[in-house]
Amino acid sequence: MKFSQIYAPTLRETPAEAEVVSHQLMLRAGMIRKAAGGIYTYLPLAWRVLKKIEHIVREEMDAQGGQELLMPIVQPAEMWQESGRWAVYGDEMFRLTDRHDRNFCLGPTHEEMITTLVRSDVRSYRQLPILLYQIQNKYRDEIRPRFGLMRGREFIMKDLYSFDKDEDGLNISYKKMYDAYTNVFSRCKLKFRPVEADSGAIGGSGSHEFMVLAESGEAEIVYCTSCDYAANVEKAELLPLDEISTGEKLPLTQVHTPNCKSIADVAKLLHIDKQQTIKSIAFETDQGPVLALVRGDHEVNEIKVLNKLNLINITMASEKSIIDDYQSVPGFIGPCGLPKKIKIIADVNVMKMINAAAGANIADYHLQNVNPGRDFAADIIADIRLIQENDPCPHCAMPVKKARGIEVGQVFKLFTKYSSALKATYLDENGKEKPMVMGCYGIGVSRTMAAAIEQNYDEHGIIWPVPIAPYQVVVIPVNSKDTNQVQLAELVCRQLNLHGIDSVWDDRNERAGVKFKDADLIGYPLKITIGPKSISEQTVEVKERKTGQIHFFSTSDYLENIIELLQKL
Ligand code: ATP
Ligand code: MG
Repeated sequence: MKFSQIYAPTLRETPAEAEVVSHQLMLRAGMIRKAAGGIYTYLPLAWRVLKKIEHIVREEMDAQGGQELLMPIVQPAEMWQESGRWAVYGDEMFRLTDRHDRNFCLGPTHEEMITTLVRSDVRSYRQLPILLYQIQNKYRDEIRPRFGLMRGREFIMKDLYSFDKDEDGLNISYKKMYDAYTNVFSRCKLKFRPVEADSGAIGGSGSHEFMVLAESGEAEIVYCTSCDYAANVEKAELLPLDEISTGEKLPLTQVHTPNCKSIADVAKLLHIDKQQTIKSIAFETDQGPVLALVRGDHEVNEIKVLNKLNLINITMASEKSIIDDYQSVPGFIGPCGLPKKIKIIADVNVMKMINAAAGANIADYHLQNVNPGRDFAADIIADIRLIQENDPCPHCAMPVKKARGIEVGQVFKLFTKYSSALKATYLDENGKEKPMVMGCYGIGVSRTMAAAIEQNYDEHGIIWPVPIAPYQVVVIPVNSKDTNQVQLAELVCRQLNLHGIDSVWDDRNERAGVKFKDADLIGYPLKITIGPKSISEQTVEVKERKTGQIHFFSTSDYLENIIELLQKL
């Protein structure tokens, strides 16, 4: 392939709108162009990478018994109304109306579509298990589409759905997908980690996310320094800590704390440690106002509050709500004496505190010697705090560490959530009707391409892992006016392609420096330079993009050497 024939308009400058490296480099390397916020055209180089990722995904899905199909992107509202999600999906769903005023959406995911399909065709336990998947565009009107392909509004996803007779069957399907995902990301040569993930109201150990480790990742994960525990911080459960205070419960007193709106200010003024204060966070939810309490040195994990209370929405309370609903004062909110309609959810560690300080719900005042149980009652006591670095691992109690990751895939046990709602049942061995037991499993194909770049780049450009590189080798004649060099470059490129190595040769009438720069930017794993010595001494220079290591191979045996080198990379 000649480089001049590839539609890869490279850019010299970094486009200002691109915040993260993958976005910048894909624009500069002529891989993507923006059509609208979060919506991109994949140019030929990007499309080649995506096809390679998809190929790996397909092989691994098929190896586990997955069957590929293709469902519609345009989905009728009725199936979403039946599952109950039409009302709760919210603004993230792209909705549209046809000429007859019928409602549709652009599929953000396909549980409804596939469950409706399978329920009409599957009757007997003999037909189960079934694993069906597709690779297709998904549509989500994200609040903040950003970071290029990382958080798009149109993106490519592989979604597989499993249907089993029972939970044992689901566990087998789940394990198959977990293994397949491990293979996919290993074969893409990415550094990743599966972590326990939040599984919403369903709870249990029903979900894992596959995180590509990268500083720019939006997700925060924790991992144990001793055992193999790893989890999304949203999910990470915590063991209750030891009691920190003992002694006699003293009478409640009110103290003047002018302008002390933060825990740090209050602790300083009262000469106490932050852990002797109670942090009160006010929320507005679909079930009304909720006050969450954690120790002053801890943070609230909103997702835990959402799950523990079975909420659909949770947002920080506005100042107006703090005044009107909580009858309190922003900055001085606390758990004592609140109106009855305020639901209080307290972290387990709060309930063990003795003589704590908390907001008095009066401007410029706090309460001292607050004793949970005596001075306020919690409606719910639960683990609601956010894990912090060095907290004890929930499995082995050794300290945990934090890292950042990009979620490239998630596997999820749905159990009978959708099959019950959409009545997808089968007849078991005894002729009894039962709901199918389901799982769903997604891979962000386009996000995986971006994540690969976030993990593999330097100041010159992308460094593609060999299995997903758009081309594995670029061949560059140093002097484009020297016919011998040009002819040899073309020959080498042709031979490589004949041997199954995706290669391109740079036939442009450009200075060598320009060609080298573009090669580094596009990130081919190997660069072969054809210069005067290639003609006079019959050698080619081969440079590894990742390490910069240079090899000289004779023109008679370079092929074997390159094949060997690519396997090692
Ligand atoms: P996130 O938490 O990042 O919004 P999600 O948990 O909503 O993602 P899933 O429903 O689990 O996403 O979708 C499966 C996979 O699709 C994700 O693991 C991710 O790789 C990819 N994905 C999800 N949303 C986007 C998006 N807006 N742009 C690109 N890829 C996405
Ligand atoms: Mg997810």
